[in-house]
Amino acid sequence: MLDIIIVGAGTAGLSAAIYGLRAGKSVLLFDGSSYGGQIVNTPDIENYPGIKHISGYDFATGLYQQAKDLGAELRIEKVLSIEDLGQTKKVRTTGGEYEARAVILATGARNRELGLPNEKALVGRGLSYCATCDGMFFRNRIVAVNGGGNTAVEDAFFLSNYVKKVYLIHRRDGFRAAEKDLERLRKRENVEFILNTTISALKENEGGLSALELKDKEGAERELPVDGLFVAIGQSPDNAAFSSLVELDEKGYIVAGEDCLTKTAGIFAAGDGRTKAVRQLATAAADGAVAALAAASYLDAEPR
Ligand code: NAP
Repeated sequence: MLDIIIVGAGTAGLSAAIYGLRAGKSVLLFDGSSYGGQIVNTPDIENYPGIKHISGYDFATGLYQQAKDLGAELRIEKVLSIEDLGQTKKVRTTGGEYEARAVILATGARNRELGLPNEKALVGRGLSYCATCDGMFFRNRIVAVNGGGNTAVEDAFFLSNYVKKVYLIHRRDGFRAAEKDLERLRKRENVEFILNTTISALKENEGGLSALELKDKEGAERELPVDGLFVAIGQSPDNAAFSSLVELDEKGYIVAGEDCLTKTAGIFAAGDGRTKAVRQLATAAADGAVAALAAASYLDAEPR
C-alpha cells in the first residue's frame, strides 16, 4: 500500500514529493500533462530566494530531477476521482485505480480564458496562452498581450526582445505586476500600453487571428490589427472532481489554511489550488513541504 499519492506535479506537488520521500514515505505523483505546472512557461524567475535568476523550465526540471533522484515516480494520468475509504483513499485515474493512505491535492490552476466565441478555434492560429512556448513564431511581427499581472508584464518584456511591436492591453490603469518589471517594460521602445481597455472580439481571416476589437471604459470601440495575441489574464482552479471530499470556495479553490488540512482526514491541499492570499513560487514550495510533513505525521499517528 502506498503512503502518499500527490495529485499534480507542479512546484507544490514536487516539493511535497521531496519532503514526503525524505520523511521515509512512499510517494506516487500524477499529472495530466507533464511535470512543472505553470512555472514551466515563465521566462525569468528572479524572486525565488537563493536563486538570483533561472528560467521556469530549468527550475521545474531541477525540481523534478531532485524528486526523481529521491525515488519519486510520476505517472502522466489525469486523476478523475478520489474515494475516501477511511484509512485508505481510492484514486481513479485515466490509467487505472490506486490506493494510498494519504492524498495531497496540488492541483494548481489553469489559464483563464477570455470567454470570446472563436477563442478556442484560434488557439495555435494566432492566439496563445504561453509566450515562452509560442513567442518565437511571431518574430518581427505585431503582437498583443492581455493582462496586468506578473505573467502579462513578463511575457510582454520577453516578446519585446524579438517581435516588431507589443501592445500590452489591460482593463485597468493599475497593475498587479511587480513595479520593477513594469519600469523595465516601460523603457522598451517597441512596447505600447493600452489601458482601461478590454478585448471585445477576435477578428480572423483565412490565416487565423487578424485583429482585436477593443472597447475602452467610455465604451468607445476600435480595431487593432495584430498577428498574435497572448492571453495572460490569470488562472482558475480545477478541483470540481474533488468537491465531495474537500470544501471549495466560490471560485473553486480548496478551502484549507496554512496547515494545508482539508475537511477530510488524510487529504491535504497544497499550492495555488487552495485558498490563500499569496500565490507565488515560494509559497507553492512552502505548501508542498507543509502538506507532506502533515501527511507524514498523519500516517505515523494512524494505525495501519
Ligand atoms: P494575476 O496576478 O491573477 O493577474 C491577472 C490579470 O489579468 C489581472 O491584471 C487582471 O486584472 C486581469 N484579468 C483577469 N480576468 C480578466 C478578464 N476576464 N479580462 C481582462 N483582464 C482580466 O495572474 P498572473 O499574472 O498569471 O499571476 C498569477 C500568480 O502567479 C500571481 O500570484 C503572480 O504573482 C504569480 N506569478 C509570479 C511570477 C514570478 O514571480 N516571476 C511570474 C508569473 C506569475 P485586474 O488587475 O483588473 O484584476
